Amino acid sequence: MSTSKADPSRPAVRRPDFSATRVLVVGAGGLGCPAALALVDAGVGHVALADDDRVELTNLHRQLLYTEADVGRDKLDVALEALGRRTAPGQTLAAVRTRLLPENARRLVKDYDLVLEGADNFATKFLAADACRLERRPLVHGAAVRLRATVWSVAPEGGPCYRCLFEDVPEADAALTCAEAGVLGPVVGLAGALMADLGLDVLAGTPRFGTLFSYDGLRDRFRSVPVPARPSCPLCGPSATISEIDELCYTAVHCRDDGPTIRGV
Ligand SMILES: [Zn+2]
Repeated sequence: MSTSKADPSRPAVRRPDFSATRVLVVGAGGLGCPAALALVDAGVGHVALADDDRVELTNLHRQLLYTEADVGRDKLDVALEALGRRTAPGQTLAAVRTRLLPENARRLVKDYDLVLEGADNFATKFLAADACRLERRPLVHGAAVRLRATVWSVAPEGGPCYRCLFEDVPEADAALTCAEAGVLGPVVGLAGALMADLGLDVLAGTPRFGTLFSYDGLRDRFRSVPVPARPSCPLCGPSATISEIDELCYTAVHCRDDGPTIRGV
């Protein structure tokens, strides 16, 4: 069959030039691995990964940049080696070897055009949300637990934002991490790839801000739902009260004594 004739019902995919863009991926786990891979392969000029964890055997089924031979090594060392084998000339990678903490969050996100947040705890998710809003940086959130995943992108200004949807850091033990509840590898992989897709749309100037994409692996159902802005939101509402990072706001669930972690899912 001849393939020379263009099919008008299937427009050709044009690949924008992302070589001048800089993206920070928070969490080099099950979400961050496929997301970073897709960003590099799409030609993003600079991709930085933030994580402070080591490769663990129990995470290998969903953290696709690592193999059994890497168990015990720093995730970032392995991830940068794996990603480095795929970079084009001029593309750069960086390891951010510090946790996202209240004292460094704004400074870290400020250096990038876009932040992808694939952390495994609410404290870090809220911290990333607040820091990106205060520094006017677009942000893509990803989460996956058991057979479900959600991904959405948040504009640098205006609503809705993460606090429109989740309001505040849950009390301790009110929510399970995927390490506690378990997660299916393909589900988290799908979510990570979608994070990159939404992020590339932001960088290309065609963002899909404010639409929550969810996947239910039990029913094989994929949905997209608009998130309404909450007028009383303390971060993006007309009477917003959050104007700085207060370290006391991120100490509820799954925080260590010295602050939230940035371990990826
Ligand atoms: Zn909001």
